[in-house]
This record gives sequence, structure tokens and C-alpha cells, in this order.
Amino acid sequence: MRTIKGIPVSSGVVIGRVFVIDEGQPRRVVRREVDPADVPAELERFDLARRAAIEELNALHKEAADEMGEEAAKIFLFHIGALSDKAVLGPIRRMIEQERVAAEYACTISLRTLAERFANHPDSTFRTKVSDITDLGARLVGILTGREQQRLSHIEPNTVIVARDLTPSQTAGFDRSKVIAIATDFGGQTSHTAIVARALGLPAVVGLRELTLHARDGQAIVVDSERGQVMLDPDEATLAEAGRDAERAKRSRITLEEGVGLPALTTDGVAIELLGNIEFPTEIPAVLNGGGVGVGLYRTEFLYLTSDHEPTEEEQTREYIDCVKRLGGLPLTIRTLDLGADKYTQQRAETPERNPFLGLRSIRYSLRNTEMFRRQLRAILRASAHGPVRVMFPLVTNIAEFRRAKYFLHESMEDLDESKEAYDREISVGMMVEVPAAALMASSFAREVDFFSIGTNDLVQYTLAVDRINEQVAGLYTPVHPAVLKLIRDVSRVAARAKLPVSCCGESASDPAFAALLIGLGVRSLSVTASSLPRLRMAVRGLDSKRCERIAKRAMSFDSETETAAYVRDRIRKLVPEVFDGRSAE
Ligand code: PEP
Ligand code: MG
Repeated sequence: MRTIKGIPVSSGVVIGRVFVIDEGQPRRVVRREVDPADVPAELERFDLARRAAIEELNALHKEAADEMGEEAAKIFLFHIGALSDKAVLGPIRRMIEQERVAAEYACTISLRTLAERFANHPDSTFRTKVSDITDLGARLVGILTGREQQRLSHIEPNTVIVARDLTPSQTAGFDRSKVIAIATDFGGQTSHTAIVARALGLPAVVGLRELTLHARDGQAIVVDSERGQVMLDPDEATLAEAGRDAERAKRSRITLEEGVGLPALTTDGVAIELLGNIEFPTEIPAVLNGGGVGVGLYRTEFLYLTSDHEPTEEEQTREYIDCVKRLGGLPLTIRTLDLGADKYTQQRAETPERNPFLGLRSIRYSLRNTEMFRRQLRAILRASAHGPVRVMFPLVTNIAEFRRAKYFLHESMEDLDESKEAYDREISVGMMVEVPAAALMASSFAREVDFFSIGTNDLVQYTLAVDRINEQVAGLYTPVHPAVLKLIRDVSRVAARAKLPVSCCGESASDPAFAALLIGLGVRSLSVTASSLPRLRMAVRGLDSKRCERIAKRAMSFDSETETAAYVRDRIRKLVPEVFDGRSAE
């Protein structure tokens, strides 16, 4: 048995079988081992890929010869020749046979070694062929891993997806009747993959660093996100314990769900509005079942991420109206596109950026792609004719951005006036407070916005300079850091003075300890993943707002986040022992 520690991001304990996903980026192919009995099948897999590559290259050669002449097309003949050359194929096959590794890994390593040999060759004819060898490797790996989709459609029940990393849309696309958990090498608590896993109620542990080095398809695995670890080839005792934990977790879920109909009031009678965060309209029933009284954050970028084209204005309108209808009169807060950073992998980004979290993302991206922005704004406005809709802009950092975004909203209103389409003229326009600059300038923004929504996922990362998806610095990602709490306090005070609604829609809001701090800092509206709503309601019902105020005040008085975390954890554990899951607030 091998135990690997990681970061628990979506709760649950499951016992299943490994399914390794390898996206096969040439430099990032994992060393996946195959069972000795599966070596002939792996050799066959390689041969099929080789033949498919030759077919592709023959077609490319013909096309190039027609368009550019035989001389220019010759390059493809070199590639085709290499795919029949023993000097190229021999090492790949030997590696699969002797080291018992997956074909894509053998191709990557063998062709990389060959490319290096060519690069150092005294004869310049060889040196000019280096990029051709690299291309060839990428083509083979692409074909081999392109079959992932096909493999995925044949997975067995009780599958645990193991990968270096997963995009949020990949995670959202898994067949939930078969996939019971995910475990990845990379990632952090508030990465969007983690958020989607929570939204789907899919147990997940990320940041496992070397898991893919050891995991093999079909291997038995326990994913224990209560303890933040996975066990490969679990022994009997571990399996028995995991079974008991799974049972206990189920019972506790049932108890929490029984409280869903109860009002979200603190013990001293302060009402806390509980809303849901969604990525897809289909999550709305879960929000309502969890007792949510509306949607506080609709991450519309998922509409773009799960489609191979930019959704048209019509498609967006349909989607937003669908949400409004499903909510039956409860409010829907639509956040405009928050693309960039972790939502596109760097391979998919239009122009990979050196520092994507500080780059062209969110409102910056929309203000650079204004036609697209206007299509989205018109769709939001059109949906507002069907029920209560609010619009919110992400990552606003300066007033000019907010004004420009609003200007486009007004232009979109004029477009609809011209085409005589109905919309809500009084639509509320708010902003996310998720960078320290916005928090510090809250009083200036308060003169122009209708509401604030504090996004702690990003606020924490930008305040503490800790990448929210980098497992190497996950220990430094501390929402209870006094610096973060002081920013939240300031925003909350400004909002109270200006009589503006303020909510918190970051993941930390679902942690009972952090929720207590938010209540203590004056926040009265919390928006979280649907699956977190029952536990959060239970926490609210066990808290006293005045006591929360005192805890928050004390928490801000410490010099270090470790003291704050220990103090808060201790206090809340005593106040609401039944709901404290002990995960965050560290
Ligand atoms: C946040 O940053 O806290 C937030 C809610 O937005 P996202 O997680 O989509 O960046
Ligand atoms: Mg954010």
C-alpha cells in the first residue's frame, strides 16, 4: 500500500479503481506503468498510432504537394520514412517491453533522446531535423492520448480519475454514474477544478504531486478527502476503515439535509442570506434543495469553456432565461465573463502569459473584446425581462474599469431599445471585490455600484501573493490572515455606511469558522456551492452574531495568521462542534 498526502478540496471517502488521464502535452507526459500482461496490448496501441500517423502524414503530403509543389511537401516524406525506420521504432518498442511503460511515455522519451542526438550531431543535415523529430513525437502522443476521450466513454462504475491536472470543464464532463472521485498531482483549495468538484459533490484530493508516477489503470485506490490523502493498493484494514468513514459521512450528510427547511438565523435572531454559486443552470435545483434563496454568483465563463465556439447571444440568452425560470422569482446574480488564468490551461490560452493571474483576465479581457462583451451584456439584459437579475463585473481594480463596463451596459440597453426588446431598466450593477486595490478603494466604488460581492478566492491570493492553484504554496494560502480580515472589515463598513448590500461568494464562506468571522465582520449574505449549503445553515444556526463580532475583533488583533487560525478554530469548534469539519480555517 502507498499513501500519498495532498490537499482535500471536496469531501467524501470512496473506494474505487484508478483511471489515469494523460493529456499528453509533449513535455508533460507522465510515466505511466502498464501491467506486464498488458505489454502486448500497449505495443499494439503504439502500432495503431504509428499507422494512424502515417495516414495523416500521407494526406498532409498530398495536400502540401498540390498547394506548394513536391519540393516543399518533401518534409512529410521524412516524417513518413521515420515512422518505418527501425532506428526510430526500435527504442520505443524496447522501452514499452522492458520498462513496461505506456506508449506515449516511450514515444516522448525515445524521440526526445533522438532529437538530442541529432542536435549534437557534427553533420548539419541531422541538426536541421531536430524540430521534425519533435513534431513527430507530438503527433504520436497526440494520437495516443486523443483516444482518452474514447477510453473515457468506456469507463467502469466506481472509477477514480487520476491526472496531473484537470480543467474545470473536463471535471464537469465526467459521467457521474461512474466517476466517484478525482485525485490530481496539481491544484489547490480554490482552483476551479476543486470548485467544480464540490459543485458536483465529487470527492476530490488535489496537490498529490507524484500520484501519477505511481498510479496504474485498474489499481485499487481509496480517496480520503477527510484526511487529505489517497492510498494505492490499500490493505484490508484501510479498506475496512474507509468503508466505515464513508458510512459515517453519509449519516452526517443526511442529518444536515434534514435541517434544510429551517431558517438561517443566528441564535440571537440575525438573518443570514444563503445563496448558491453555480457554473451551470443545472445546478440550480441543488441550490434550491440545499435551501438557497437565490444565486449569488453565476460563473458564466463555463458556458464558453464547455463549448468549442463562443456562445452566440441567442444561446446565452436561452441559458440565462433558463436560470431565471428555474429560480422561479428568486434573484440571479450573473457575473460577466471571468476568463483567463486558471480557467484556460496555458496550452489553451490564446496567447500564453507569463503571469496569467496578473494578466489579461476577467473584466480586463471583456474590455479588450468589446463585441463579445456586448453580446453577453445584451443576453443578460434580455434575461432580466423574465425575472430578478443582477449583473456583476469580476476583478475590477480601478474606477475607470467599472465605468467603462457600465458604459457598455448602457450601450447594450440602447441596442435593445432600438430593437424594442424588454429588459429591466433598473437592473442592479455590482462588482466583485477580489483585489486589495478594490477593497482599499471601496468608498470610492460605493458611490457608483449597487452592491459588492467579496471574492475571497482571489482576494486571499492577491493579498498574500500566494497562487491559489499552486500546491507548493498551498500552506501559505490562509483566508484567516489578519490582512485579509481587515480588508473584508473595511469593505463591509463602507457598504454599511452607504447602505449597499455586501455578500461573500468565495469558497471560504462555506467553512463554518470563516463564515463566523464574516458574520462578525458584518457580512449578512453568503454565497457558496450548493453542496455546502446544509452545513453552512447548521453553522449559522449555532452562532451568536455578537460573539462572532468579538471573535473577529480578536482574530484581527493577532500579529500572525497562525495565531489567528488556532484561535478561530478553537473558538468555533467549541461553538458549533457538530458542523465544524476541521478542513479550512487552518
Ligand atoms: C473569488 O475570486 O472569490 C470568486 C468567487 O471568483 P472565482 O473563484 O471564480 O475567481
Ligand atoms: Mg475571482
